[in-house]
Amino acid sequence: MTALPLDVDLPWLRPAQDSFNAALTSGRLGHALLLQVSPGQGGQWLALWIAARLFCRKVDPLRQQPCGICLDCRRVMSGEQPDLLRVQPIEDSKEIRVDQVRELSAELALTSHAGGRKVAIVSPAERLNRNAANALLKTLEEPSGSALLLLVTGEPSRLPATVRSRCTRLRPGPTSDDRFVSWLQAQRPGSSAADWHAALGVLGSQPLAALDTDIAALGGLRRDTERALEDAMRGTLDVVETADRWGKDDYALRVACVELWLIDRLRDWGHGKRGASSKTLFEALDHAREARQWAESPVNKPLAIERVLWRLATAQGAAARRPGS
Ligand SMILES: [Zn+2]
Repeated sequence: MTALPLDVDLPWLRPAQDSFNAALTSGRLGHALLLQVSPGQGGQWLALWIAARLFCRKVDPLRQQPCGICLDCRRVMSGEQPDLLRVQPIEDSKEIRVDQVRELSAELALTSHAGGRKVAIVSPAERLNRNAANALLKTLEEPSGSALLLLVTGEPSRLPATVRSRCTRLRPGPTSDDRFVSWLQAQRPGSSAADWHAALGVLGSQPLAALDTDIAALGGLRRDTERALEDAMRGTLDVVETADRWGKDDYALRVACVELWLIDRLRDWGHGKRGASSKTLFEALDHAREARQWAESPVNKPLAIERVLWRLATAQGAAARRPGS
């Protein structure tokens, strides 16, 4: 994802920024903050903003914002700030491991390069495996001097309660797709609200992901997916070929489009427009939701897609017209 500049305004994060500033100026800043921000809504960015707010030497005194252009701010953004440590799942491994946390704790115990604070960002924090979370707990129980730990997570309930209870929570203000769409339109003047709503529908309520997406291409992908699903219902879709293609490219987006389409069909069904039986649709939706959970696992993705498509293709009437039969 493209890194957003420090001076961008994410209105839903402003309450979190304000409480951070209030805690900092009144000397009530603890040793660990839990940034409870859903994926694609700027949790990473907020962590960097906080780090820059601490390292920047030209903080705007009125707005309490990092300047965004001094050497310290630039180093935060480029990952070259020596007193800013970052822990994330190592490539391919989906979890943050205990040795990473031990290394972090050892680093935090050392004196900072610039003689000021050390800041560590752990993100996404729910990826800490059990041993790693236990190791982190020790660091939280015996914090070293001026270190500040920032845990970024959209799913705080997946962190042990013992870890959560030692952190001060920073929450965003109210979020809604309408709010995100207004923001997105302001970022891309002239863009259409309907396109952004559709994009957020497919991507989930993730404005930053939407901003990074080619929404025309995404719209095309959605229409292509819907055509294929209608073909599946008619029994004219080459299920195996389609599943193979979707399993390789844009898997998560295809699955999201499938889910949205099925939910729409169920809504139609509820309004009396009877096509496929609701049982077929519900079962296909179950398969699609399962397929979504496999988006980040090495499970056979074409197979997961195939299950959904076969469920539709073998619905009443379609089975007899399956290609090749
Ligand atoms: Zn600065």
